[in-house]
Amino acid sequence: MKENGSSAQSDAAPTLESVKALFQQYVAPTYGRFDLAFARGEGCQLWDVGGRRFLDFGGGIAVCSLGHAHPELAEAIAAQARTLIHISNLYYHEPQGRLAEALVKLTAPGKVFFANSGAEANEGLYKLARRFGHEEGRFEILTARNSFHGRTLAGIAATGQEKVKTGFGPAVPGFRHVPFNDLDAVRHAISPATVAVLIEGVQGEGGITPATPEYLLGLRRLCDEHRLLLMMDGVQCGQFRTGRFHSFQRLLEGVPGGDGFLPDAISMAKSLGSGMPIGAFWIRESYQDLLGPGSHATTYGGTPLACAAALKVLEIAHRDRLDQNAREMGTFVKEQLQALVTRHPALLREVRGLGLMIGIEFAPKESIPALAKSDKPVSLQMVDHLHAAGLLTVPAGTQVVRFLPALNVTREEAEEALTILRAEVEKLANG
Ligand SMILES: *Cc1c(COP(=O)(O)O)cnc(C)c1O
Repeated sequence: MKENGSSAQSDAAPTLESVKALFQQYVAPTYGRFDLAFARGEGCQLWDVGGRRFLDFGGGIAVCSLGHAHPELAEAIAAQARTLIHISNLYYHEPQGRLAEALVKLTAPGKVFFANSGAEANEGLYKLARRFGHEEGRFEILTARNSFHGRTLAGIAATGQEKVKTGFGPAVPGFRHVPFNDLDAVRHAISPATVAVLIEGVQGEGGITPATPEYLLGLRRLCDEHRLLLMMDGVQCGQFRTGRFHSFQRLLEGVPGGDGFLPDAISMAKSLGSGMPIGAFWIRESYQDLLGPGSHATTYGGTPLACAAALKVLEIAHRDRLDQNAREMGTFVKEQLQALVTRHPALLREVRGLGLMIGIEFAPKESIPALAKSDKPVSLQMVDHLHAAGLLTVPAGTQVVRFLPALNVTREEAEEALTILRAEVEKLANG
């Protein structure tokens, strides 16, 4: 060991093996990682430690909205770092105020709290709901089956998937799950203790399932009737990914009554900082002062650095019409994938999603001979095959492969990704 604690090896260029060895010895083994170690990126491209190029359609799980190493974002971060990185929330600073203003203008009148991640933004929603119902003894939040809300204790209690809960009981009380897109199920589940409903506009980890317009409008009516907060987790589907800033704005486009729809609170994170860690939740005007001084806090939340980055992301998204690009590229990719599904009905079930949040569902493993022998789920096997072919994607559940590229992805990059996927599907078709 050298005096600075780094191993003598660190002078040599890193390899997958050398990086993996560090992880195996020093990093808690909570993740099932792929055998890939990356060194640098540019736009929708990443290069691994050996210098091999990959096309990145995972986008760091819907995070890198401007792609990798965006020069203007890098410059904004560097300039803010040279000026002021952090002061705590004991004091005011302009970037946090300006970012809150921008998010309110993209949403509706209300106020914003800044956190550092999606799970932490959602924690704020749970506390808002509990504070709202406190005096009446109401605390219960209804969430959807197959939802995902993060990995904190309350996050796994809110998440409608057993696999995140196993081994971590007793669960935080006050969450119950109902089938997604089923209004009657919510209606029947409401108890005297119920205070809120929380859903994703488009379920991400659950397999890219959009909420139906009737569901959204019906939930709004139901919540009004029963004085429940309607809260939306926009961590993955928000921030322009669907082609509008919030997914519900896109889902309700052109739907009668859709214009007036507004949830009571919305969490945000992933694409907001294009990789700079930041989370936030917006609270509707009627409830905007419910969480008063001393009721909620986080040391890092809304640092000058994170806010300067997010402000630059929003500025570039606006200037470069990335909402429009997400919409156009999303439509193109989805149409092409749809054609692939039509051509291979025995292998592919369905394409779902909106904008640049797209999932392709594969048939059950038993019906795909080329994948049936492995223990791994179909989604993981396909992601592995795509890696070998130079394309990064993200699995969702056992059957779905997700495309979550940067919002500035080009037509050429989309075509390249489709060409790679088509070739892999053809290989499956040929056994
Ligand atoms: C990723 C995700 C979260 C959790 O965000 P973290 O930043 O990982 O804590 C919560 N909700 C949804 C819908 C997500 O996709």
